[in-house]
Amino acid sequence: MAATRMRILLASTPVGPLGSGIGGGVELTLHDLVYGLGERGHHVEVVAPAGSLHVGERVHQVDGRLQASSQHAPRHAPAETHGDSVLPRMWNRVAELQDDVDIVVNLAYDWLPLYLTRYLRVPVVHLISMGSVSDSMDRAITDVGERFPGRLAAHTHAQAATYAAPEMFRIVGNGIVVERYDFVPTAGDDALGFVGRISPEKGLEDVAALGARTGRVVKVWGMMQDEAYWHSVRRGAPDAQLEYQGFLPTDDLQAAIGPCSAVVMTPKWVEAFGNVAIEAMATGVPVITYDRGGPAEIVVDGVTGFVVAPDDIDALVDAVRRIDTIDRRRCRERVEREFSSAAMADRVIAWIDEVVGAHTGATR
Ligand code: UDP
Repeated sequence: MAATRMRILLASTPVGPLGSGIGGGVELTLHDLVYGLGERGHHVEVVAPAGSLHVGERVHQVDGRLQASSQHAPRHAPAETHGDSVLPRMWNRVAELQDDVDIVVNLAYDWLPLYLTRYLRVPVVHLISMGSVSDSMDRAITDVGERFPGRLAAHTHAQAATYAAPEMFRIVGNGIVVERYDFVPTAGDDALGFVGRISPEKGLEDVAALGARTGRVVKVWGMMQDEAYWHSVRRGAPDAQLEYQGFLPTDDLQAAIGPCSAVVMTPKWVEAFGNVAIEAMATGVPVITYDRGGPAEIVVDGVTGFVVAPDDIDALVDAVRRIDTIDRRRCRERVEREFSSAAMADRVIAWIDEVVGAHTGATR
């Protein structure tokens, strides 16, 4: 662990202000990482789009047009930036601040910060938040990995494995401020929960099918990113009792999901991590997930939920039948041990401490 107090600058995603939900899991990751690093005594400032919530010692709020999310662009699409885009402006700010900090931690899944890494004096590290979805990003990531070994991290092994050279990544998991989540020892009803952006890669149609098969209500929380998709899910499962609950801030979300009997994750893409898995488990809610990406590394099959074959609705139904065999305390304990903000901060500190040490040694 770092012996001295580091000055750390975190660069947020340019797709939306912190607190808007547009940034998906990256928003919570950034918030809880800043908290964890601060608790360990480090000085943390953040560069983020204007309108962001306050976090850390200071948030440098930057104006400009929000970047379109690259999740839904075709793999061969070029990296795009508008003239008035917030992304280059955020990185102008990073450049202005670079001599006042020891390291920059980039959380944006964007081409520009990767490209700029070699031109900035300060060491920049990248916590990559998605699996491989874009050729231009893959190339930029590989370039940083080759030029600057040790500068890349991923959340899970499954995420890293989507790239051509998984060994480029340090695996740091993720973490939440567990104390913000109230533990609910017994399920309040037999409802199932779905928590995530309403968007095809999250596979809500499979949870709807599961709801129809089991007769259980499915409560849905998340940003309505694709309304046409939502309507198609409803049409596809007319017997399912889907109840859309809106997008809630963390404190309200945790209170709402705590009484669920299970949260179900049926991603159609390789989920890089899946914050909602650790959030649900922190409240004591077991997680049923496909064996596709991060959630399968978070859930201990038969102990904190069930990991089933991807796209297998029968297996989901079977898991729901067995859900009462899960001891909800074990869910909470796993998050406290492995996925607290302190555990995450310690993994990140070990990582960036090495990078700062190597950089200082090289430039001395
Ligand atoms: N979320 C939220 N309110 C809601 C539903 C979801 O704040 O009503 C947050 C949730 O806390 C999580 C994020 O949305 O941090 C989703 O992140 P995840 O890693 O699961 O998926 P991503 O959106 O990054 O693909």
